[in-house]
Amino acid sequence: MNTSSTSPAERPSVGFIGLGIMGRSMAGHILAAGHRLNVFNRSRDKADELLARGARWCATPGEVAANSDVIITMVGYPSDVEQIYLGADGIVARAERALLIDMTTSSPELAVRVAEAARARGCRALDAPVSGGDIGARDAKLSIMVGGEQAAFDQALPILKLMGTNVVLQGGPGAGQHTKMCNQIVIASTIMGVSEGLAYARAAGLEPSTVLQSIGGGAAASFQLAVMGGKMIAGDYAPGFYIEHFIKDLGIALAEAQRMRLELPGLALAHRLFDGLAQQGHGRLGTQTLIKHYGG
Ligand code: NAP
Repeated sequence: MNTSSTSPAERPSVGFIGLGIMGRSMAGHILAAGHRLNVFNRSRDKADELLARGARWCATPGEVAANSDVIITMVGYPSDVEQIYLGADGIVARAERALLIDMTTSSPELAVRVAEAARARGCRALDAPVSGGDIGARDAKLSIMVGGEQAAFDQALPILKLMGTNVVLQGGPGAGQHTKMCNQIVIASTIMGVSEGLAYARAAGLEPSTVLQSIGGGAAASFQLAVMGGKMIAGDYAPGFYIEHFIKDLGIALAEAQRMRLELPGLALAHRLFDGLAQQGHGRLGTQTLIKHYGG
């Protein structure tokens, strides 16, 4: 499945479902690489820009699947994944010997079920969630964590490399989602640390942006400190990553940890703090809004 040395007609056709903050940019890279692109999204207006660039609209996930060699999905919640893959007129029902790649952050258990249903229909499936945020999606610099069979991974790699710079096979079906949970567990405690550091800076009468200049260049440096810390200082709460999606991720991670009899107090605390922000009506703001919990 070479994406560069073949003519557009020979390149695999790609279907993309879920054109939100992340999916819109990711699908755009695939279109720019010369693939025929079939798209579907719950709200059609989110497809306008891609349609103007030559993508083709499909009326259902099943129609995307029936017309594509590779189907990529980037929707919101596990319930959305279940509906578009396993529902009536869904991807699994209509795909023909296709490669299915779910890039949504979803549950490992559902990834295994989708892979089994796909195999029963003669298709291959991968779970391939991402990290790197809206900036990583826009710049095609995502880290992509993949679960599935080696042959499916090899087939998917040229397309995944159009969206990310760090693409790693972690194991069988579900292993990509488990790896993404490791990622979210690290972010959960990191963003609490960033908020607490900045709250302390303010209370001590320091200039937060000058503090960031020092601690952002030392051992505390991270994406969360640089990007989310900068937004916290600027009072910019616009979503790159919705609080409500982070709560979904932390809930999946907590349930998996509980199943493995693993106690993760940082994860549990982050879940409680973000849940509190959602209850105050901040669920559609970005995760940097955590600073509000600390009076910021
Ligand atoms: P988003 O902006 O809400 O995008 C999701 C898109 O999927 C929306 O446009 C939504 O349609 C569409 N959708 C949902 N259910 C659908 C269905 N059943 N059929 C068709 N379309 C459907 O969210 P996002 O920020 O792009 O995140 C997408 C996924 O990536 C989430 O699982 C998130 O946790 C994960 N993620 C996000 C980031 C980030 O920084 N944003 C980073 C890594 C991973 P509507 O337009 O109608 O809502």
